Amino acid sequence: MSAYGEYEPVIGLEVHAQLLTRTKAFCGCATSFGDPPNTHTCPVCLGLPGALPVLNAEAVALAVRASLALGCSLQTRSVFARKNYFYPDLPKGYQISQYDLPLALSGVLDVEVEGTPRRVGIHRVHMEEDAGKNLHGVGDESVVDLNRAGTPLIEIVSEPDLRAGAEAAEYLRRLREVLMFTGVNDGNLEQGSFRCDANVSIRKVGETRLGTRVELKNINSFKFVADAIDVEIRRQINLVERGERVRQQTRGYSAEKRESYLLRDKESESDYRYFPEPDLPPLVLAEAYVESIRSALPELPVAKRARWALELGLTAYATGVLGGHPAIARFFDEARALYPDAVKLANFVQSEVLRDVTTTGLSASFPVTPAQVAEILRLVDAGTISGKQAKELYAAVAGTDHAPADVVRERGMAVLGDASAIESIARGVMEANPKQVAAYRAGKTALLGFFVGQIMKQTKGSADPATVNAVLVRLLGEGSGA
Ligand code: ADP
Ligand code: MG
Ligand code: ZN
Repeated sequence: MSAYGEYEPVIGLEVHAQLLTRTKAFCGCATSFGDPPNTHTCPVCLGLPGALPVLNAEAVALAVRASLALGCSLQTRSVFARKNYFYPDLPKGYQISQYDLPLALSGVLDVEVEGTPRRVGIHRVHMEEDAGKNLHGVGDESVVDLNRAGTPLIEIVSEPDLRAGAEAAEYLRRLREVLMFTGVNDGNLEQGSFRCDANVSIRKVGETRLGTRVELKNINSFKFVADAIDVEIRRQINLVERGERVRQQTRGYSAEKRESYLLRDKESESDYRYFPEPDLPPLVLAEAYVESIRSALPELPVAKRARWALELGLTAYATGVLGGHPAIARFFDEARALYPDAVKLANFVQSEVLRDVTTTGLSASFPVTPAQVAEILRLVDAGTISGKQAKELYAAVAGTDHAPADVVRERGMAVLGDASAIESIARGVMEANPKQVAAYRAGKTALLGFFVGQIMKQTKGSADPATVNAVLVRLLGEGSGA
């Protein structure tokens, strides 16, 4: 029995990921986000007659890198095609995409759902260009912004291997991570550089044929993707239970109402009349070229976390936190090169540094450098400051370029480890508390903690605990005849 009774949900995802190139797929216009409308356009991406596309080599390299990271077979020869449809944000009247001969086929992505590993098939990866954007409510007008038109994308099409909303969400997280760690995509869902359509159908448990699917369009939030899919699964189950049939549709999802709603009936959707793009030659990849990209692939996030767990003895939680974003992973690796105790470092980065880190896309803003963190931890190891003072020191150093050792000196933060200085404080404490001294000497040795506490209070926690203990035991022992 599944969580859905006698029904088994089947989900396949189509992800559009923007390639992190400086310029567009077929022209030299910049791919920058957030600029005034139509400031990055030219005859090619405006679709003016006679303008000819030229394929961006950097886009090809990134698409190949992503395909390899997903374990796909690169196709020696792939072909661009025109996908014809009419929409205001598509001035050419067609989108350049790949159709029957895509860039790469049959990959895999391993995910883990509630502790159970699952292997999800990647059906294909192909290259295409983005459309523009219709902006409504610009004053009392609508504007077609073509800055995004012609931006290079890859579409990553999964096999229908997913069985629940939560699995789909996990697949998307892992996929986004792979693309971010390989520098292919910035993972920015809000800005639309990572977008997902989910195909959802149900069938009776044990049935091998696929049911009629509904395509949920543009779910742009991890928070909603599992919900959106589950809500759609329930809707389909309800339909079937009522004796109705699931119709092949494209639907949207309202997170507010927790409902999917009809966008269009697929059955009436127009034919795209694909045909090979006559202005672009087939894309032919030499084996040496593909191999050069393969050999330069960075370590993938899942492998990195497994290695950290094994080699460094970090917990799964720690590797998840430190290895979940490429900039954080890089910070940790850089700090580790300067300070070898990975567990101590991981604890400190997690408990102090990450509180103050914000990530935007591929970058992260750190309040301190790896070198500052390493120095703070070395000061603790050397006994110059206490663990408690390390937190204070971090707060003092954060957001500055000051060397931690300088700050310790300036603020007089160093641990008081000098036995003679501690001895004079201890004598003062003993003089002020003669009754407790007498009681200790009469055998109430548990009072040691009281004296330690008094000294810590006077030194504001900066006295070295081991020295304090040794000094007290000696001084208190002197008069007891013990
Ligand atoms: P299209 O190009 O028309 O969107 P595809 O056959 O390429 O169709 O499939 C797109 C996605 O839909 C793939 O991720 C695939 O796994 C998934 N898919 C196909 N059929 C079903 C189905 N019956 N139920 C769920 N997902 C499906
Ligand atoms: Mg589709
Ligand atoms: Zn252009």
